[in-house]
Amino acid sequence: MTTDFGVYIHIPFCKHKCFYCDFPSFAGREKYIDEYLNSLHYEMELGAEKIAEKGKLTPHTIYIGGGTPSHLNLSQMKILFKSIHANMQVKDVAEFTMEANPCTIDEEKLHLMKSNGINRISIGVQSFDDGCLQRIGRIHKSSMAIEKVRLAQKAGFDNISIDLMYGLPGQTLDMLKKSLDKAMELGIQHISVYGLQLEEGTVLAKQQEMGRLELPDDEAVEKMYDYLVEYLPAHGFSRYEISNYAMGGYYSRHNTLYWQDVPYLGFGSGAHSYWRGNRYENPVDIGEYIKATAEGKFLHIVEEAVSEKAHMEEFCFLGLRMTKGINKEKFREIFNRDIYEVFGKVIDKMVAKALLGESETAIFLTPLGMKYGNVVFGEFILE
Ligand code: SF4
Repeated sequence: MTTDFGVYIHIPFCKHKCFYCDFPSFAGREKYIDEYLNSLHYEMELGAEKIAEKGKLTPHTIYIGGGTPSHLNLSQMKILFKSIHANMQVKDVAEFTMEANPCTIDEEKLHLMKSNGINRISIGVQSFDDGCLQRIGRIHKSSMAIEKVRLAQKAGFDNISIDLMYGLPGQTLDMLKKSLDKAMELGIQHISVYGLQLEEGTVLAKQQEMGRLELPDDEAVEKMYDYLVEYLPAHGFSRYEISNYAMGGYYSRHNTLYWQDVPYLGFGSGAHSYWRGNRYENPVDIGEYIKATAEGKFLHIVEEAVSEKAHMEEFCFLGLRMTKGINKEKFREIFNRDIYEVFGKVIDKMVAKALLGESETAIFLTPLGMKYGNVVFGEFILE
């Protein structure tokens, strides 16, 4: 059985576009959902036909992300699950995640998700401060997020992740502290925490251009970062990746595949695949995606055949994201070279600056390196 790859399924529909979001997701396109699900079914069928030896794909993990997968109504969700089960061996997957927005999950959807094999839910909470939520264009309130986490637990989910953000407009350290305290009361297993990035074309970027955005200054953001990286491990959430913290063994199996250079297939508009040494990207535009799928295109656009140089760089960037770092032996196995032969100078320089640490088996970011990850990654670009 082939279980050495992950599957990502993209649902690009959202009820409302959040002010910071530059993901390939769209609000107000609900009329395309049925057609989109048809295309998704067809693309998965093509994938199974071309790749699976025994008719069905046998991934190690499946992740339904977006957009907002929980924005599908009950009958659309049933269609999606039917397509997945028709083309993939679901019962053997190590992890089957679905992303959800507090506004769009209810008891019926949760039961449907559970009965179709979803064993992990990732809920976009972002903050438990209603003012912060409003300023970033989230449409739920803190109380609703709490209610929906509880509802998911009542429906039998025991692997729940939430996303939180820091550095938000109008956010203070005290607000972040309160959000973290609230998160601790929920009995969840996983937290992803992201610093706000102002992405071009988003509402927040436009507000900033017009001088109408009040963001905490760098010093305040740094204090928030310093606080949360101490707080979460002190409350039982181990940091296993720059932005990810897990209770016990509840780390994300799916995302870990990305960081460990494992192949993955992406289905849906804007989805990326990394397959047999090539990278692919589906059209982001929903109409173009539907058209390409109707023409029988699978693994739609070859973005690039990954060169050995690019592969080595990525192997390092991705490996360093994880606290356990780059496995030296694995580097040797894949590239048939010692990592010091290729990156020795950079490693020495970063170790001298206390940004990297070394053990017999690995090279990893120090706590300081985690904070300034981009500086370190930049050094791993080969001439
Ligand atoms: S719900 Fe998620 S994908 Fe949709 S707009 Fe908000 S952040 Fe983006």
